[in-house]
Amino acid sequence: MFINSNLSSGKASKMLEVINPATEEIIGEVPQGGEKDSLAAVDAAKQALSGWKKMPASERAAYLHQAAAGMREHHDELVRLLTMEEGKPIPENEEELWWSEETFDYYAELGRHDRGQVIPPGDPAQFNFVMKEPWGVVACIVPWNYPILLMAWKVAPALAAGNTVIIKPSELTPLTTLRLAEVAFSHLPAGVVNIVTGYGPDVGEPLVSHPDVDMVAFTGSLATGQRIASLAAPQMKKLHLELGGKDPMVIAPDVNIATAVSGLAYSALLNTGQVCTSTERVYIHESIYPKFTEELADFVSKLRLGNGLDERTDIGPMIRGKFRDKVRSQIDDALQSGAKLVLGGKIPPDFDRGYFLQPTVLVDVDHAMRVMQEETFGPVIPLMPYRDFDEAIQLANDCQYGLGATLMTHDAKLVKRFFENVQAGTIWINDPLTDNFAGPFGGMKMSGLGRELGQEGFDEFCQVKHVHWDMEGHLKEYWYPY
Ligand code: NAD
Repeated sequence: MFINSNLSSGKASKMLEVINPATEEIIGEVPQGGEKDSLAAVDAAKQALSGWKKMPASERAAYLHQAAAGMREHHDELVRLLTMEEGKPIPENEEELWWSEETFDYYAELGRHDRGQVIPPGDPAQFNFVMKEPWGVVACIVPWNYPILLMAWKVAPALAAGNTVIIKPSELTPLTTLRLAEVAFSHLPAGVVNIVTGYGPDVGEPLVSHPDVDMVAFTGSLATGQRIASLAAPQMKKLHLELGGKDPMVIAPDVNIATAVSGLAYSALLNTGQVCTSTERVYIHESIYPKFTEELADFVSKLRLGNGLDERTDIGPMIRGKFRDKVRSQIDDALQSGAKLVLGGKIPPDFDRGYFLQPTVLVDVDHAMRVMQEETFGPVIPLMPYRDFDEAIQLANDCQYGLGATLMTHDAKLVKRFFENVQAGTIWINDPLTDNFAGPFGGMKMSGLGRELGQEGFDEFCQVKHVHWDMEGHLKEYWYPY
């Protein structure tokens, strides 16, 4: 753990094994922390708050740039470690690290440029302005699928805004985050960044419930988000929740089929489908549905499964067997309800180790099936034909989640109807899953509360204060007696 600038094995007597999902080998151990560790981290973050909050923004910016530089200096090593603990192929981890490094640089600059505002007073003798202040101590609770990126999207804006933080990485992927304590956070004043490791109920819940934790920034499943919200409610704690998704992709009849097939395969199978914005439901215009299905199956059948460290690998393993079991149960449920398997659906016979699952294409699915309603978080592509565009929009919206949505077309009228009517926090046209530092990212409906990235992702970590200053201080005619 990393508490108050000390790297230690914490107060835990038990250790937690970290497993490479491609080989099932143990690649490291970290402390299985408990409440005492969380309390020590809160204490350190609270002690550090006043100094960090009052520091000139340009000095904080320098610290953030240095964090980015430290990550860049150890880029290759971090990419390799991340590949070993998370499983996705090297090029995807290269990208995760690049995005994370850039996020620290982006918020370093945004933080030092950020301004409050002066607003029109109600009287010439008065002065009104709005200030932004940090919330205080922020618990950043992170999932396993993008451990460094999703940490960066919280920690960088939180620090830039003057908060101190406690990072709680997933128990499945704590190693790269801990390495950052040495290569990216060791130069920071003690207590500004702390890292506690362990299971959610053991170390996460004490953070969420602690009265000295002023904000919880969480990315993870809907169920955990609901649990965190219920724990935080009695204290009316500021919450920032990035939860699950079930993203639709609509494919219009005018597309170039080969291009759309390639875009769909990428957006559904990136990180073995374990992306919150993975395409998990596909609606294809009926005029191109048979040809599209055939070309997709052909394309996907040529993708190579393997260890993420092998440069020939397109698709890595899933993170653990229990997640693969859940995906297989959704496939079985669909097949029992009338869906047909075009491709995949099985544990590949030539892999005796690792949590691999063949990329899977399903047809004849409908919205009564779990695979079209529940988050799958695996390499499954269910295809449905649609007749007219209103039907496609209705199907896209027929889901409790509203994280992202993609439309493939060059028809501007369809684009307008899509972004005006589809309920999702991000709309992608022809380029799914591409983020933008300045573009807010987050969900509608059950996909969460708040936004990451951009100015919006900075403002989440600030509370605003309105100052109403009457400089003359005369008696007011609207005071008592009436
Ligand atoms: P998870 O909810 O199981 O765990 C996420 C984190 O919360 C982990 O660090 C875990 O230890 C911690 N945690 C678990 N129980 C807790 C508790 N009771 N109190 C406090 N902390 C607790 O999620 P996961 O399996 O790690 O990640 C996959 C999920 O994350 C998927 O649902 C995916 O859609 C979602 N996700 C969302 C986004 C987004 O931006 N919306 C991005 C990536 C992943």
